[in-house]
Amino acid sequence: MDLSKLNLKIRMFSPYVSKKAASAVNKVLKSRYLGEGPVVKEFEKKFSELTGAKYPVAVNSGTAALHLAVVMAGVKPGDEVITTAQTMMATSHTILAQFAKPVFVDIQYETGNIDPNDIEKRITKKTKAILPVHWTGYPCDMDEIHEIAKKHNLPVIEDAAHALGAHYKGKSIGTISPYTCFSFQAIKHVTSADGGMLCLDSKEKYDEARRKKWFGIDRDNRKPSILGEPLWNVNEVGYKYHLNDFSAALGLENLKELKSILKRRAEIVKRYNEGLAKIKNIKLFERKSDRKSANWLFSMHVERRTDFITMMLKKGVEVSVIHNRIDANDAFGPLRKDLKQLAEFTKTHVSLPLHNHLSNDDLDYILKCIRGGW
Ligand SMILES: *Cc1c(COP(=O)(O)O)cnc(C)c1O
Repeated sequence: MDLSKLNLKIRMFSPYVSKKAASAVNKVLKSRYLGEGPVVKEFEKKFSELTGAKYPVAVNSGTAALHLAVVMAGVKPGDEVITTAQTMMATSHTILAQFAKPVFVDIQYETGNIDPNDIEKRITKKTKAILPVHWTGYPCDMDEIHEIAKKHNLPVIEDAAHALGAHYKGKSIGTISPYTCFSFQAIKHVTSADGGMLCLDSKEKYDEARRKKWFGIDRDNRKPSILGEPLWNVNEVGYKYHLNDFSAALGLENLKELKSILKRRAEIVKRYNEGLAKIKNIKLFERKSDRKSANWLFSMHVERRTDFITMMLKKGVEVSVIHNRIDANDAFGPLRKDLKQLAEFTKTHVSLPLHNHLSNDDLDYILKCIRGGW
C-alpha cells in the first residue's frame, strides 16, 4: 500500500484550540513580556483548581517534567528505574539522560498499563523509582503500585501525559504520588503547543522544582543589583525547562474548557464501546468502575491487525498503534524476551481516531467501516 497516496477523511488527532486562545495569545504578544510571567502563574492556578494538585510547576514539555522528576527522585548514573516499554519513548529517554537504566516490566494485555504483579521481582539494590504510564489516560493500579513502592521505600513518578482529568478511586490524577507529569504537547487533549506540568506533594519539592527548571535560580528571592544581573548564588545543576507566557495563554484558554473536552471524549468512547461490543474479532480494553479515564486514546485489540489497518486506511480513516514497545529501539534494547503480555499486546493493539472535532456522522462512518469486516 502506497501510504503517500492515501486520502484520509478522518484523522487520528486534531488539536483542540479554544476560540478565545488567539486573543489571549495576542495579548501576551503585545505585552512586551514573552517569557515566564503572570500568565504562567494563572495557568498553574487554574490547573490546581481543576485537578486539586497542590504544587503544580509549569514546564516547557512533558519530557521536561519527567526529567525533573527523575532528577529530583535522585536517579544517578548506574541506577535503575522500574518502568514500562508501552509508551512514548520520552518516558525512558529521561532515565537515559541520567545515565541510568530503564528496567521494563510486563504490562496488562487488557489495559496496556504496567502489571503490578511483575514489579517486585525486578527491584534490585540499584532501583531508585517506579515510573508507570497511564496508557490511553486510564489509570494504572495505583494502590498496588504504591504498596510495593512503600515496602521498598521508592518514589512513584507517574507519566500522566495521557491522563489529565483522569480519576482513581475518587482521587484526581496529579494528587496521589510524589511526582506526576503531564504534557500539553500539540496533540494532547489540552495543548499549549508544547508544555508540561510537574505536580509535587510538598512545598520543599515545589521550591526545588521551581529552582531546577530555571538554572537553579531562586527567582522569587533573587535581589536586584545595581549591576543589572540580580544577586543569587546557584549551587545545583539546573535546566532551562520553564514555560513561557504565550504558550501558557494558549494552554490556559484550552484548560478552561477541560470539562467539556473530557465530556465529548467520553461520549465518543461510549459510542465506540457500544458499537464494537459484539464484533467477534475485536477485544475491547478492560475498564473498571473504580477509575475514570481521561480518554486521550481509544485502544483495542484486533485480529489480523494489518488487514484491519489496511481496510480502514483504504476507506479514508486513519488508525494507528501510536506507539510500539520502545525496547524495539536500539537505545532501549535489546528487546526483552520475558515480557509475555507485552509481546501479545504488541501483536494486536490499535487505536481509533479520538479528538474533539469528530462528528457523530464521523463515528457512524468509522463503525460502519469496521462492521463491514476486514
Ligand atoms: C506526549 C508524551 C510524553 C512527552 O510529552 P512532551 O510534552 O511531548 O514532552 C511523555 N510520555 C507519554 C506517554 C506521552 O504520550
